[in-house]
Amino acid sequence: MPSYVNPEKCDGCKGGEKTACMYICPNDLMVLDPNVMKAYNQEPDQCWECYNCVKICPQGAIEVRHYADICPLGGYVQPMRSSDSIMWTIKFRNGSIKRFKYPIRTTPEGSIQPYEGEPSPGADQLDNEVLFTESAGRATCTPSNPV
Ligand code: SF4
Ligand code: SF4
Repeated sequence: MPSYVNPEKCDGCKGGEKTACMYICPNDLMVLDPNVMKAYNQEPDQCWECYNCVKICPQGAIEVRHYADICPLGGYVQPMRSSDSIMWTIKFRNGSIKRFKYPIRTTPEGSIQPYEGEPSPGADQLDNEVLFTESAGRATCTPSNPV
């Protein structure tokens, strides 16, 4: 179910240094073709279908296209963000549509510094199997400890 960029809608984020979809993809899959100023998924097989690029695209140009055996006959899930909420439009294969609206956080993009003030890991930590939060003595979410 990889992401797909509709070239009719993509404007290359108006020529910015780094497009929104490139910024947000946790797998660095999105690239911009500078010749046509359109983004595309360079490795669809590696797409996690996380919907990050779909949600962040200011033009609503990205879809995650589901496999036909999961969502046949044109069913789709498409989000639309506003400044304080996100609207999910679900189209079922019988043609019916449902919409769900949720509030979203308003933290500015890129403003969170999760490791601020924390020590950088050293090479001696490469073989350490303990998670960062465990070594710091914090609670870690596990099946037996679902914090
Ligand atoms: S975020 Fe949307 S508009 Fe911007 S480059 Fe990616 S697909 Fe195109
Ligand atoms: S759905 Fe997620 S993994 Fe796939 S291209 Fe978009 S941001 Fe990257």
